[in-house]
Amino acid sequence: MIRRMASIGRFAPSPTGPLHFGSLVAALGSWLCACADGGMWRVRIEDLDPPREPAGSDRRILEQLAALGFAGDGETIHQSTRQQAYAEALARLVADGAAYPCACSRSDLEPFAGTHPETCVRGHAQGLPTAWRLRVPHGSVIVFDDALQGPQQQDVAVAVGDFVLRRADGIWAYQLAVVVDDAWQGITEVVRGSDLLDSTPRQILLQRALDLPTPRYLHLPVATDAAGRKLSKSSADRPLDANPLESLRAALAFLGQTEAARAAAATPTALLAAARERFRRESLPRAAARVAPRDFA
Ligand code: GLU
Repeated sequence: MIRRMASIGRFAPSPTGPLHFGSLVAALGSWLCACADGGMWRVRIEDLDPPREPAGSDRRILEQLAALGFAGDGETIHQSTRQQAYAEALARLVADGAAYPCACSRSDLEPFAGTHPETCVRGHAQGLPTAWRLRVPHGSVIVFDDALQGPQQQDVAVAVGDFVLRRADGIWAYQLAVVVDDAWQGITEVVRGSDLLDSTPRQILLQRALDLPTPRYLHLPVATDAAGRKLSKSSADRPLDANPLESLRAALAFLGQTEAARAAAATPTALLAAARERFRRESLPRAAARVAPRDFA
């Protein structure tokens, strides 16, 4: 048997509402990939956008994880406490000439299909609040191998162009914060939903600009309802509290871990331990999306 290097994985929910089946799949998938190899698994609350975060959602998520039997290694980090680190990363990009201030509004960019043109539509407007963008030169083609979805390629300049690192209202962009914190927490393998697959090239570009290591990536199928709509925390799709053990069994089955899903276990903790023993990476389903079981969608 080939032994893999012990990895450090993470689950990084935004506290926009309670966990639903789709977030459980991401939590469980990342936990299995890290812990089946004897690695570590960290929890990070991505609370960067207060208007989108109902009060107490972070606490609720942590309680749900505990009820499901998950225990993170080390301290749970809240991104709201990490502003200084993001500011330092931005300052470095600015000093390198890789980031610039931009006062363009969304409507300014509409004629360009939302992609920022080579020079700001607004010019260097004095006195206007500015966002900060990463300069994405022509030919910024990122190629990487996703451990589940296979070879990936994106021309970031064409697909998204110069992207936002900090919004004009001062809120740090997910792309910058995730890169800074994955490196800071020593994450070696990012396991998450396929809805974030097209963000990964931006994150790799930023890692290179900041001289940070690139972790391995594995993008799991996203759980949808019968109509193909992705489950979402903010739209209050069914939370998981009713029966943690059954929720875990359903998520194991969703992730192709049929033997683990049927393992005898009286508690979520015991089921997770059994699932870790029986985990088969090669059975993870490759589809970008899958319908969640009826009780959870
Ligand atoms: N915070 C993101 C979310 O809840 C996930 C970020 C990530 O895994 O990179 O969708």
